[in-house]
Amino acid sequence: MRTAIEISTAVNAGTSARIAVESSLAAAEGDTLNAIIRVHRARALAAADRVDARVKAGERLPLAGVPVIVKDNILVEGIPATCCSKILTGFTAPYTATAVARLEAAGAVVVAQANMDEFAMGSSNETSVLGPVKNPKDPTRIPGGSSGGSAASVAAGIAPLALGSDTGGSIRQPASLCGCVGLKPSYGAVSRYGLIAFGSSLDQIGPFASTVADTRLALQIMAGPDTAFDATSNPVAPVLPDLAADPVAGLKGARIGVCRAHRDGLSEGVKARLDAAEAKLRAAGAEIVEVAVPHEKYCVAVYYVVATGEASSNLARFDGVRYGHRAADPKDLHDLYARSRAEGFGPEVQRRILLGTYVLSSGYYDAYYKKAQQVRRLLCQDFASAFASCDAILGPASPVSAFKTGEKFNDPLQMYLSDVFTIAANLAGIPAISVPFGADTNGMPVGLQLQAPMGADGRLLHLAAGLEALGR
Ligand code: GLN
Repeated sequence: MRTAIEISTAVNAGTSARIAVESSLAAAEGDTLNAIIRVHRARALAAADRVDARVKAGERLPLAGVPVIVKDNILVEGIPATCCSKILTGFTAPYTATAVARLEAAGAVVVAQANMDEFAMGSSNETSVLGPVKNPKDPTRIPGGSSGGSAASVAAGIAPLALGSDTGGSIRQPASLCGCVGLKPSYGAVSRYGLIAFGSSLDQIGPFASTVADTRLALQIMAGPDTAFDATSNPVAPVLPDLAADPVAGLKGARIGVCRAHRDGLSEGVKARLDAAEAKLRAAGAEIVEVAVPHEKYCVAVYYVVATGEASSNLARFDGVRYGHRAADPKDLHDLYARSRAEGFGPEVQRRILLGTYVLSSGYYDAYYKKAQQVRRLLCQDFASAFASCDAILGPASPVSAFKTGEKFNDPLQMYLSDVFTIAANLAGIPAISVPFGADTNGMPVGLQLQAPMGADGRLLHLAAGLEALGR
């Protein structure tokens, strides 16, 4: 699969958009990883023809004819959106998410939808009602989650671009485990309109791609205010300068923060890759500075209060009345609610709703939700002081590379620790990216994470391009 930039360059020069779209459709139809859950052949070919007509009429489109795969929790008008949950079976999106609408307006073509953990809750893509996704590098292993289908699709070359959502790491962790680039933009950089909400103060839509340059292009198209539809979208778009021709040269003089705490619990291979990155960055002229984010150690605990609290509220709307699955022959309204939800939601989603309802209940609110928000504020202060002495913080995206399917499925606490390095960025709202940086001792891909201050998505991408070049 060619990159998004290569495809759009060719299409803008007169090559039919059908060529890239047909090849992506064929790859999606031939998917053996269970990464793809629905292919939209007729819709995609019609869109490709519209792109060709626009180019013929003289328009130049930044994503002309670029195939894109969309996670099943992001709405595209007229096609299903189910969050890979039984409760949304049969639901068709009534409108298109702003992020998707902007990609399509720029010439991108939605070819298929990607598998995911149910309601984006999971780190291995094993909670999907449509079954687990296989890692393209080793089908006995998980691709990461919750955007496992999106990451696997890009890593397997089904499409050059995919969209995911990241509430606690769901873009960066699967990108790291599959060997592609995954970006969680600053909170508010990309509109959440049309993203089915999980934890609204944490959720962001972001791109997967095979290169940092494609990632930057996708963000540039999607980002920017959406005042009519998302009150939390940032009123100013991030400034995303073109990447330098020599991204390694741009690392000279950059101050890269590293945390001692980021070395705990890593696999040998991940640790070795982190050491290698540090050494290569130094050799490229970057200054490595020791920084501390002391409250990061509470992140997993804080996240499972904040995210579950918000999820219990957001998922209250799925009650068998307005959306999706409805229990048969209810005795009364309460029975309809209780059975529709018990039948429609899988065990992990039910666990989160119960936890979230508990932490928000009166009498416990101050002890859990309020306390978690206070720790969250302290975490933001930690980042503010860390970023006073560095431009970005380098660390692992995941403590380990892709594990075996089934290995952690029955141990939720072990599973929750998969996101120990990614959650902080969601709690603080800062941008963070996972960039491929070689392989673990078992041969599976390793991604390293860079985190930057709120709004510094452009600077983050420049440094990520440097890191990407060093990792090749
Ligand atoms: N793995 C985390 C969870 O299970 C993060 C999920 C996400 O970012 N959507 O909640």
